[in-house]
Amino acid sequence: MNVYDSEQMERLLATMNYRPTSHQEKADLIIINTCSIRDKAEHKVYSHLGRLARLKLKKPNLVIGVGGCVAQQEGDRLLKRAPHVDIVFGTFSISRLPSLIRRVTHEKKQAVDVEPTGTVEPSHIKPTNFQEARATAFVTVMRGCDNFCTYCVVPYLRGRELSRRPERILEEIRHLVAKGVREVTLLGQNVNSYGLKNGHGLDFPALLEAVNDIEGLSRLRFTTSHPKDLSDKLIRAFGRLDKLAPHMHLPVQSGSDRILKRMNRGYTTGNYLARIEKLRKAQPNIAITSDIIVGFPGEGKTDFEETLNLVESVGFDNLYIFKYSNRKNTPAFRFSDKVQEAVKGERFARLLELQSKITLEKNRGLVGTVQEVLIEGLSKKGYDQVTGHTPCNKTVNLSDGGVCVGQLVPVSIAEAFSHSLLGAPSECCGKLPGEKGGILHAA
Ligand code: SAH
Ligand code: SF4
Repeated sequence: MNVYDSEQMERLLATMNYRPTSHQEKADLIIINTCSIRDKAEHKVYSHLGRLARLKLKKPNLVIGVGGCVAQQEGDRLLKRAPHVDIVFGTFSISRLPSLIRRVTHEKKQAVDVEPTGTVEPSHIKPTNFQEARATAFVTVMRGCDNFCTYCVVPYLRGRELSRRPERILEEIRHLVAKGVREVTLLGQNVNSYGLKNGHGLDFPALLEAVNDIEGLSRLRFTTSHPKDLSDKLIRAFGRLDKLAPHMHLPVQSGSDRILKRMNRGYTTGNYLARIEKLRKAQPNIAITSDIIVGFPGEGKTDFEETLNLVESVGFDNLYIFKYSNRKNTPAFRFSDKVQEAVKGERFARLLELQSKITLEKNRGLVGTVQEVLIEGLSKKGYDQVTGHTPCNKTVNLSDGGVCVGQLVPVSIAEAFSHSLLGAPSECCGKLPGEKGGILHAA
């Protein structure tokens, strides 16, 4: 979501003639878009701001802005802690960024805007200023959250759920496709409730269907779906929509019903497992990934064992594991039975070990198969390798072999690791790379 918001900021800044640079020392304006979901992310903001203080001493006209959830949470306090910051703007204030910048550059005043008001629609400026070729993009379809899980800051910092208008979303995706994007991921904290409150005429499965019809788009994904609201209609979409990638991220958070209740998640492990069964019936190849918090207040040995059992029995393709982080203003902040850091660390390591084994086993099962990979760019490993994802969202690295960003390439999988697969372009599935592939440059 922050990647998407940062792109909105970049578009607005382009209208003011700002251009991105990869050299921090050359920048006239630096914006940090922050996250405060866990305290580690929040600490990073302050250590980064510490480094920027030294840069500002050398370059007094440098304008520094802090946006996102830490800004929303801290407001004026952030200026007290980091007086070299010029702009603090919250999660509702992105569209007001240009006027905040002008206040600093013209009136030489610090600016704080954390008003919880603003449009759910991003700026109407077309996405034209991408600097590099890209095959995938995020598109936010709704903002905020109404769920109030007891550990989570999102509802307090991003407000109540608001859905964007379907026509604006479709228009945005058509523009992205015209620029060469082949895969979009629709984003929301709980996409299942898209359109239900503000009645724009489409619910989430209907929105998916409309996006599926966009010509030139090859793949469609979404995140996040809340298990309590995962409807049969959405599950059926996996069997019906040809572009909907067979991957579902369905955060379970814990394998203990007692802990799920304290988290206010609104489902039991029984409900969760029943949803998984239905998903696998509708789309037998579906990859399922999840989020788990270890060490939630009151989580005992037995609760954690139940989490291990659930992970083992579902056999997730991948898991994002987090140690519980105590967030101010959330109900769990006041729970007295906190789990010791050392215990959280042990549980984290045990769960990670179990999941790494499962992931590696699943990845090994793909060796010898041919997977369709959407080429996204150079791999991190070096210049002779490119990288992309399978429909099930597995990362695949392959030798360059003349393939281009945006191409769909059949790849024969030769080796499996716990975080990626290695392969080579294959002819054997008889499928030619997407016709619309080619080196894509920004207009
Ligand atoms: N809306 C999504 C999750 C968004 S936050 C959902 O409900 O599934 C992404 C993940 O961060 C959550 O799934 C949760 O596992 C983790 N998370 C959120 N708050 C946390 C906290 N206080 N401590 C540790 N992990 C947290
Ligand atoms: Fe946070 Fe729960 Fe909303 Fe997800 S559903 S954003 S975890 S409150």
